[in-house]
Amino acid sequence: MSRYTIKLQALISLFLCLEPIGGEKSSYLHNKPFSSWSFNSHLLHQLPVEDYEGNFVRQVHNCVFSHVRPTPLQKGVQLKLLSRNALESCLDIDFTDARSSKKFLDFANGRLLLNESHAHRYGGHQFGEWAGQLGDGRAHLLGEYFSQQGERWELQLKGSGRTPYSRHGDGRAVLRSSIREFLSSEAMHHLGVPTSRAVSLVVSDDVVKRDPLYNGTVVEEKTAIVLRLAPSWFRFGSLEILSKSGEINLLSTVLDFIMRNHFAASVDVHHPDRYLQLFELVQRETIDMVVKWMKFGFAHGVCNTDNFSLMSITIDYGPFGFLDSYDPLFIPNLSDDGGRYALHRQPSVALFNLRKLFYAISPLLNSTQKSIIKTKLKAFNEEYQTKLVSAFRQKLGLVGDDRGDVMLVASLLHLMNETQADFTMTFRQLGAWRLNEIATAIIPNHLWALADLSKHSLFSSWCSAYYKRILGAEPSLTDQQRSTRLYAVNPRYILRNWMAESAIRMAENGDYSEAWRIHMVLQRPFEEQAPAEYSGYANRPPKWARKLLVSCSS
Ligand code: AMP
Ligand code: MG
Repeated sequence: MSRYTIKLQALISLFLCLEPIGGEKSSYLHNKPFSSWSFNSHLLHQLPVEDYEGNFVRQVHNCVFSHVRPTPLQKGVQLKLLSRNALESCLDIDFTDARSSKKFLDFANGRLLLNESHAHRYGGHQFGEWAGQLGDGRAHLLGEYFSQQGERWELQLKGSGRTPYSRHGDGRAVLRSSIREFLSSEAMHHLGVPTSRAVSLVVSDDVVKRDPLYNGTVVEEKTAIVLRLAPSWFRFGSLEILSKSGEINLLSTVLDFIMRNHFAASVDVHHPDRYLQLFELVQRETIDMVVKWMKFGFAHGVCNTDNFSLMSITIDYGPFGFLDSYDPLFIPNLSDDGGRYALHRQPSVALFNLRKLFYAISPLLNSTQKSIIKTKLKAFNEEYQTKLVSAFRQKLGLVGDDRGDVMLVASLLHLMNETQADFTMTFRQLGAWRLNEIATAIIPNHLWALADLSKHSLFSSWCSAYYKRILGAEPSLTDQQRSTRLYAVNPRYILRNWMAESAIRMAENGDYSEAWRIHMVLQRPFEEQAPAEYSGYANRPPKWARKLLVSCSS
């Protein structure tokens, strides 16, 4: 066996993650001005609220929510970013009206309450260990809205002050992390990744103290509030806390609530196997979510069970990162020393989290149901790998199913890793690469990411294998057809760390134009756009951004 065969096998393992581990223009015609808009919290009232009030930190029992009001930001409060798409398509609120409405500003700042607000009680496994009660320590659930499109959205403020779950925290979110959350949730939605949405960013001159690099340098940072949406904010940890505290009746009440309101179309809510069915569904959709993360080179950064949604959507954006150069060991979070949540570990962590979910619902399962779930968990890797290979086959523009595809993808990633080729642009530029150029391993000058890749000594043999595979399945495929197909799945723009950082630096000086530009561009990530080209969003990341670190201290 040659040295490269051995290396490639290691790469295949890495690719398949076999390692074990403990404002576009609105098309919605019936939007309302904010003053005549309303929502409610009727459904959520079906779940118990703590019968104790008072905003101080405590251990909470036998309930799902605590009643608590937001603490609005005080000084220099301004609405700085507003997602037209989220506002209009999810909430049916008129963008132009909301943008200039003092009432909307008060609402998005937690000053104007249209319903009772609550903080949610949940727990979680953080970095592999049970962390006990966590809960919404800086978030307030405002209620739920049923949209004209028939969707249910729970509105939540993040950064809106202390709650009974704040532990040692101040209940605030700093400007930099709020900008990142706003931009990334909306960007992920437009990439087609299941995610919570961000409606607005309200900023202020109120400051809090943070140690962003964990090196003892404490600085004052400005604070902000993001109004965010999800079909439900329940997490794996929402069930874990009930199970760990022996509140088994409440556990089944919450599960039945989730099933009735979110999974009625796919789970028979009266069936004795309903919890089993729910688990199978969550497992399937969690796998789909992680495959999409891998497909776009997204590392969440803090995949604790309290940050894993029961709706299988990406939530709680913190020290996340999108890949620049391909590196399976990419760790976006400065404080993740062991790399527990490195890019390539996300599937293993998802499996770990699903196991914790299984333990949480176990008190409601009989022995047959438990053994079915154990078998299902054993099949996780196979299901994940099949879906991952299929996603990357698409990224290469290949049709059909060839036994050599795993090797073809894994060896491309290997070449990318060794040449430090850019993940997003390598795949994107495959669409601009003509078939006759692939056959001869020639790279036109403007395809800079492929040019980086071509420095590898095995590049031309990879090209031959790729060319053979394309023509083998589609002998009459044209360059135009290939390009359309590849451009539809490989984005030209993602939220690169340097882009977020430059938007933050400008925003910290009061200029939100870069944040706005990025938000607009990332609504059409698959389409080439002049402002994005001018700003260099599809270029090699600038040198100054190479050593950027993202902090959990948000
Ligand atoms: P995260 O890792 O940001 O998802 O947060 C983990 C837990 O810490 C959750 O219970 C949060 O509500 C809580 N938390 C994080 N930051 C703060 C803060 N500044 N104030 C209060 N609670 C916080
Ligand atoms: Mg969280």
